[in-house]
Amino acid sequence: MRNIEDKTLVKQANLIRISYGAEDDCPLFAALTFDLEKDCCPIFPTAIGMEVGLPKIIRLLEKYKIECTFFATGEIAESYPKTLKEIAKKHELACHSYFHETFDKMTAQKTSRIEESRNVLQRTVNQEIIGFRAPKFLVSGELYQVLARLGFRYDSSLTWFKPQHLRMTPPIQEFRVQLPSAFLNFPLGPRVFMKILKVSSFPVMCFHCWEAVDVRSLLTMPTVNSAYTRYFRPDMWVNTGDGFLGRLESLIGSLLKAGFHFVTLRDYVINLRTSK
Ligand SMILES: [Zn+2]
Repeated sequence: MRNIEDKTLVKQANLIRISYGAEDDCPLFAALTFDLEKDCCPIFPTAIGMEVGLPKIIRLLEKYKIECTFFATGEIAESYPKTLKEIAKKHELACHSYFHETFDKMTAQKTSRIEESRNVLQRTVNQEIIGFRAPKFLVSGELYQVLARLGFRYDSSLTWFKPQHLRMTPPIQEFRVQLPSAFLNFPLGPRVFMKILKVSSFPVMCFHCWEAVDVRSLLTMPTVNSAYTRYFRPDMWVNTGDGFLGRLESLIGSLLKAGFHFVTLRDYVINLRTSK
C-alpha cells in the first residue's frame, strides 16, 4: 500500500513550500471536495452521477489543473473500482461510510462498519485513507471517538450553517464546510459563495457528483423509490446538470483570479499546516 508520507507527496509539499516561499508567507488555499455516492441518497438507487456527472467534473478539474478530495462510499468503491483508481492517480480519496448510512442508523459494531468502509477504499486504490465525512453531516461525540480510535487524521463533516455544529470540538483536525453546495445553484449563490470564501482562512467547499446531472430527469426512472420522493427538495434539483457545471466553473475561475490555490485536504493536513 502506498503510504501517505511517500516520496511523491513530500516532493509535492516541497514544491508548494518553494512556490510560496518567505516573500509570500500568506498564500491563499482552498479545497474543493466532492461526495461520490448514489444519486441524492436515498431517493434514487442509481449512480448516474458517477457515470455521467463525474466525468464532466473531472474534465473541468483537468482544464484548470486542480487537485481535490473525493469522499466515496464503500459501495461506490466496489461498483466503480477502475474509476476510483483513476481518480486516485491525481486526487485524494476519503471515506464517506459504506452505504451512506448515518452513524445513528448503524446497527451494532459501528466501529467495524466505518473501518470496513475505509478498508474497501484502501484496497481499491492502494493508498492510505485518512479523511472522513459523515453522510448528511450527521455527527456525534461517539462518532468522533470512533474516528480517532481508527486513526483517521481529519474529518470534514461539520459546517458553518448548522447551529448544532458550532459548539462541537472534534478530537481530530476538522475542516468545516462553508456553505450548502446547493446554495451555489440559486440566483445569488455564486456572489454569496465568493464573499464568504474570501473571508475564510481556508475555504472548504462540498459538492456531489450527482449535481452534475439534471437530477429531475431521474424521477422518470422506474427504479425511483417513491417512499422517499417526498423528500425531494428544490435544493436537490434546482440548476443541477449543466447549470451546476457552469456555476462551478465560474466559481473556480473567480477563486483562481482572487489568488487561491486548490489543494487536497490530505495535503493541507500533512504538508501545508506544518510548513507554516
Ligand atoms: Zn453524502
